[in-house]
Amino acid sequence: MALDVLQFNCLSDNYGYLIRCSQTGACATIDTPDASVIEAEAKKMKWGLKEVWNTHHHWDHAGGNDALRKSLNVSITAPEAEAEAIGHIDRPLKHGDIVQLGYQRATVIDVGGHTLGHIAYWFEDANVAFVGDSLFALGCGRMFEGTPEQFQASLARLRGLPDDTVIYCAHEYTAANAAFALSVDPDNEALKAYALDVHKKRERGAPTVPTTIGKERLTNPFLRWDDEGLRAQLDLKDASDADVFAEVRRRKDVF
Ligand code: ZN
Ligand code: FE
Repeated sequence: MALDVLQFNCLSDNYGYLIRCSQTGACATIDTPDASVIEAEAKKMKWGLKEVWNTHHHWDHAGGNDALRKSLNVSITAPEAEAEAIGHIDRPLKHGDIVQLGYQRATVIDVGGHTLGHIAYWFEDANVAFVGDSLFALGCGRMFEGTPEQFQASLARLRGLPDDTVIYCAHEYTAANAAFALSVDPDNEALKAYALDVHKKRERGAPTVPTTIGKERLTNPFLRWDDEGLRAQLDLKDASDADVFAEVRRRKDVF
């Protein structure tokens, strides 16, 4: 049993993902940053794309839904909480729901904060999660709609996944994220090594995504609200986890 994942560039810095159950051939796109690119990639692979699985309502994630409904008659699986913004939804989802792609099962995780109804898809058996704009390699999404309490709780759910969970996020932002991460956590040796690796990869045009939860747990300042070194650096030794997260998010916004 396998989940095939095809990763490709869309727009200026989005990643598109086609996923497929290797046994049944059932195929979905995670979000729809660019309908024509997604359709062309599916055609090239000879994968019969039938489903859209959205993570949240932003245009670079759901903006291609209508075009793919028209061209391929895809069904739309998406967060119920963002139904109004997304438009047509065939299968509305909420936290804890199980969705099937052929024989592959994904659990829906509420990761609200970037947008209120943002969800992630966790394929436990395949050890893979699609997290949209909630968690990035060395970063997290901007807090457009949620509160620090909500966003930190969402990221805690992702941080609680097994260390070897492969994290597919929706943008290539890692080099800029690394520069910021070093500014708030300058003595973190794992982070320094990670940042060096990111620069090497970007120099040759290679993607830095996917990452893993284990790697992010050690290096991503948005997952390290309980780290004593980071708390000391921010002068927030006794603050709540959400307050530490909020301060890191605030600093990134003006970095
Ligand atoms: Zn977004
Ligand atoms: Fe996005």
